[in-house]
Amino acid sequence: MQHFEKVVRGKLVLKDRLVDGEIGITNEKIASIATDGEKLQGDAVLDFGKAYVFPGFIDEHVHCFSNPEEGFVPTSAAAAVGGVTTFFDMPYDRPHPINSVDLFKDKVKRMEGQTYVDICLWGTIAKQNGTDQILPLAEAGAVAFKMSTFETDPFRFPRIPDPEILKAMKLVKKSGLVAAFHSENDDIIFSMIDDYKKADKVYPRAHMETRPPVTETSAVLKLLEFAFWTGVHLHIVHVSHPRTIELIKQFQKQGVKVTCETCYPYLLLDVHDLEKFGPKSKMNPPVRYPEDVKRMWDHLEKGDIDFISSDHSPWGLEQKDIGNDNIFKAASGLPGVEIIAPLMFDSGVASGRLTPVEFAHLMSTHPAEIFNVPNKGLIAEGYDADFAVIDPEQVTEIDKDKLHSKIKLTPFHGKKCRGKVISTIVRGTVVYNGDELIGQKGYGKFVAGAAAKSSVTQ
Ligand SMILES: [Zn+2]
Repeated sequence: MQHFEKVVRGKLVLKDRLVDGEIGITNEKIASIATDGEKLQGDAVLDFGKAYVFPGFIDEHVHCFSNPEEGFVPTSAAAAVGGVTTFFDMPYDRPHPINSVDLFKDKVKRMEGQTYVDICLWGTIAKQNGTDQILPLAEAGAVAFKMSTFETDPFRFPRIPDPEILKAMKLVKKSGLVAAFHSENDDIIFSMIDDYKKADKVYPRAHMETRPPVTETSAVLKLLEFAFWTGVHLHIVHVSHPRTIELIKQFQKQGVKVTCETCYPYLLLDVHDLEKFGPKSKMNPPVRYPEDVKRMWDHLEKGDIDFISSDHSPWGLEQKDIGNDNIFKAASGLPGVEIIAPLMFDSGVASGRLTPVEFAHLMSTHPAEIFNVPNKGLIAEGYDADFAVIDPEQVTEIDKDKLHSKIKLTPFHGKKCRGKVISTIVRGTVVYNGDELIGQKGYGKFVAGAAAKSSVTQ
C-alpha cells in the first residue's frame, strides 16, 4: 500500500461536492484522495473530524506596502491565521509603485525569508509612457496588471489617462494576463468633494454622498467598452454596487471577457456603519445603502460575482485620522486578510446562504482560475497541498488587539463569527494550528504568474 508523508482527514470540500475523505500528501502536493472509506497510510495523520477541509483561501487583493510599516511579515502572518494560503500583493507600494521590471525583481528578492504563506505579485504602469514595461513585467512573473481610473495619489496610485489605458489593454491582452481596474470617475468625485468641503459638509456620511453609484458605474462602463474593442480580459476589483454587476452581465452577453470581485465590507457594512464607525469604515468605493447590500448578496448567491477579496489596507490610527471630525482627511481602506474567512463563513455558510462548495469557489477556486495560478485553488491530485480547515462548531471572536497586522483597527471588533479556522496548511506544512502561528517566516514562496518566462515558483 502506498505510504504518504502526511494524511489529512475531514469533510473535504472538492470542486463539485462535499465528502468525508482523506488526502495523502507527498512532496508538498496532493498525491491521492480517498473518498470511499479507504484509510490512507501516512507518517503523520491530521484528523479534523467533522471540520471542513477547504482548498487554501486565496486573497487576490492585499496591500502590504501602501503603509511601509506593514510589509510581508505581519501581512503574511495575518493571512496564515485567517486560512489564506496565497495572497496577491498589490503594486501601489510606498515610496515607489511596482511599475518596472527592476522594481518588480527587487520586490521578489525582498520577499525572501519574509513570508509565512505563498505570494503572487501584481504589476502596474506609470501614469505616462509606462506601457513598455507591461510585457517585460509579465515575463518577470507579474500575476496580472492593476490600474486605476481614479487618482488616489499622482505618483504612487495614479489615474491612468484613457489613451494609456487603451495601449495598456492591448499589451496586457498580448501577455495573456488580466487587466484589473479600480473603477471610479475621478472628475465627478473630486468636484463633489470640493463642493462638500466648501460647504463644510465633512461628516462621515459625506464620504458616501460624494461617491454616488454613478461614479462607479460610469467608470466601469467605459472600461467595458474599451475591453470590447481590445479583447483584453478585464477584471473589476472591489465592486460595491449591484448596478455594476448588471452592466458587467450585459457586456458578458456580448462576448466581452470580464470578471469581477467584491470585498467583504460591501457584503457586511452599509452607510449606517459609516455613520457609526467613521474612518474605520471608510474605503473606496464607499459602503452603500442596506438595500444595495441585499442586492449584492442576491448576485453573490446567483453566481454573478466571481469571488470575494479583502482589499486589505493596513492604515493606522494616524493615517485614519481617528478623533478628527473631517472624514475627507482619513485614509481609505480597512485591514481584512485575517478576518475575511471567518466573517464570510459566518454570513455565507453558517447562515445557509452559501454551500461549502460555493464558498470554496468564491474564496479559492475562482481567483486561481481567473488569474491562472498554477496548482492552486482546488483539492485535486497534483495540486499544492494548501488547505484552510474550518470547524463550524467553534466560534471566532474578532479582537482588534489580537490581529497579526500591526494595525489594530476594524469595525468588526467584538463580533462573534460562527466557524473558526483551526488549521492552515501551506504545501503540506501546518503554518497555523488554531491557537498559534507555527510556520517559519521564510517558508512562503513567490509564485510567478502564468506569462513568466520560467513558470516554476522560486
Ligand atoms: Zn485595493
